Amino acid sequence: MTTSAPTAAGLDLGPLRAGFTGEILTAADGAAYDAARTAFNAMFDRRPAVIARAESNADVAHAITFARAKGLPLAVRGGGHSVAGYSTIEGGLLLDLGPMKAIDIDAEGRLVRVQPGVVWGELDAATQAHGLATTGGRMTTTGVAGFVLGSGSGWLERLHGLACDNLVAAEVVTAAGETVVVDESENAELLWGLRGGGGNFGVVTEFTLRLHPVGPEVYAGMLMYPRVQAPEVVRHVRDFLRDAPREVTGGVIFMHAPPAPFVPPELRGAPVVSVIAGHWGSVEDGATSLASLKEYGEPRVDLMGPTTYMDFQMITDAGNPPGRRNYWRSDLLPDAPDEAIDALIACAARAVSPTSVVVLGRTGGAVGDVAEDATALSGRSAEWLFHCYASWTDADDTPNIAWARASEEALGPWSMAGMALNFVSDIDNSRVRGTFGAEKYDRLVRLKRCWDPENVFAMNQNIPPEG
Ligand SMILES: Cc1cc2nc3c(=O)[nH]c(=O)nc-3n(C[C@H](O)[C@H](O)[C@H](O)COP(=O)(O)OP(=O)(O)OC[C@H]3O[C@@H](n4cnc5c(N)ncnc54)[C@H](O)[C@@H]3O)c2cc1C
Repeated sequence: MTTSAPTAAGLDLGPLRAGFTGEILTAADGAAYDAARTAFNAMFDRRPAVIARAESNADVAHAITFARAKGLPLAVRGGGHSVAGYSTIEGGLLLDLGPMKAIDIDAEGRLVRVQPGVVWGELDAATQAHGLATTGGRMTTTGVAGFVLGSGSGWLERLHGLACDNLVAAEVVTAAGETVVVDESENAELLWGLRGGGGNFGVVTEFTLRLHPVGPEVYAGMLMYPRVQAPEVVRHVRDFLRDAPREVTGGVIFMHAPPAPFVPPELRGAPVVSVIAGHWGSVEDGATSLASLKEYGEPRVDLMGPTTYMDFQMITDAGNPPGRRNYWRSDLLPDAPDEAIDALIACAARAVSPTSVVVLGRTGGAVGDVAEDATALSGRSAEWLFHCYASWTDADDTPNIAWARASEEALGPWSMAGMALNFVSDIDNSRVRGTFGAEKYDRLVRLKRCWDPENVFAMNQNIPPEG
C-alpha cells in the first residue's frame, strides 16, 4: 500500500509522487516499509520519513530534487551492507536503488554494465555464465555499488586488481539532478574520485566494469585447525602466501567452528583457525600450487579441492547473516612479522562474542601495480589486510565495541594508512583524512566542491566541501 496522506512528520509527498515511477513507502506501509528500511547491521534500526525505491535515472534525479527542496537529509542505498550505517537514515529520505538491477554483458569486449541494485551473487552468476568475473565481494549479498565506490577488496584482487581498479566508466546523477557520463575522456577527474572516494559525488546509476576469464572450475576452499595450533599454522600460511604468485589468494580467520555437518562434533563451537585459499588458474595448477597448504599439519576440516568460483564466493555467507549487531575495525599491514601474528592471536583469544572474527588476508600483487596517485584510493603498497569484525546478537554493545577498538590498537605498531574505510564502523573526519592522506584529501575536497557543494551526499565516508 502507498499512501497519499502526509507522513507522521507532516511531509507532503505529493511532489515526490508526481513523476516518480518506483515505489514510495512510509511507516504507514507497515511490513513493506520495515523490510525496505532494514540494514545489514542491526545497530542501525532507523526510521526514514520516506523511502523512495528508484527504478530509473529520472526517479533518482526526482528524489534528490525533492529531498533538497524539503531540506530532508538523504541516504543512498545500493546493497545495504554499510557497516557504518550510511545507507539508512532517521527521519530523512532513503533513496533505495534496489530495484535497479540491469546487467548487460559484452563478453567479447570483456565488459559489464551493471546497475546499483545488483549484489555480487547476482553479478557473479551473470558473468560466470560466460566464464568471466571481476573482483567482487567475499559475500554474495554485498552490493556492487558501495563496494566498488569504496575500494572493493576481493579474492581476485591480487591477479585482477581491486573492484575500483576495474571501473572503466560510470553514469552519475548529480546533486543538481543531471545525468553525466564519466570515463577516461569525459569527467576523468570524477572517475578518479569514484575509484575509492565513496558516494560523495553523486548517485552512480551504472557502473562499467572490466571482466576477466575466471573458472568456472577452480581449485580453492578451506582448512580448519584447533585454535591451539594457530602459532604454527598462521606462520606457515604467512610464509606460503608471502611467496605465492598472484594467482593465489588467501588468508586466515580466527573464528568459532560452526555447528555444521562438515565439522567434527567435538570441534563444533570451539575456537579454531581457518585457512581460506584459492588459485585462479586450471584446477590441476591449483592443486599443485596449494599442495603445501593443504598438506600442512592435520586439518580437522579439509574442504579444499576442485570447486566452482561461484561456490567459493559463497564460502563466508553462512557465517555472516544479516540482523546481527556489528562493529568493525580494519587496517593495512606492509608486512606480517611474527610479533604481529602473536598480537592477532592474542586479540582473537579476547573476543567477547563467539560470532566475532579476526582476519589476516593477503593483498598486494595487482593492487600494487596501480600508481598511488592514479585513483583516490590509498595504501597500494600494503601486503596484508587485518580485519576485526565484532558481531553479536544481544544488546551488549560496550564490551564488543571495546574489543574491536582494542584489537585495532594492538595491531597499530604494524599498520599503515589506506584502503580500509569500507570495513570500518564510526568513521570520523580524521580517519577519512588519514586514510587518503593530505594531498589526496585536498584533491577530493576540490572534486566535492565541484559536484556537491552543499554536501547533499553526506551519509558516506564524508568529504565535506568546506575541507
Ligand atoms: C557481510 C559483509 C561482507 C563484506 N565483505 C567485503 C569484502 O569482501 N570486500 C570489501 O571490500 N568490502 C566488503 N564489505 C564492505 C562493503 O564493501 C561496504 O560495506 C560497501 O559499502 C557495501 O556496499 P553496498 O552497496 O552493499 O552498501 P550500502 O550500505 O548500500 O552503501 C554503502 C555506501 O555507499 C553509498 N552508495 C551505495 N550505492 C551508491 C550509489 N549507487 N551511488 C553513490 N553512492 C552509493 C551509500 O550511500 C553508502 O555511503 C562487506 C560488508 C559486509 C557487511
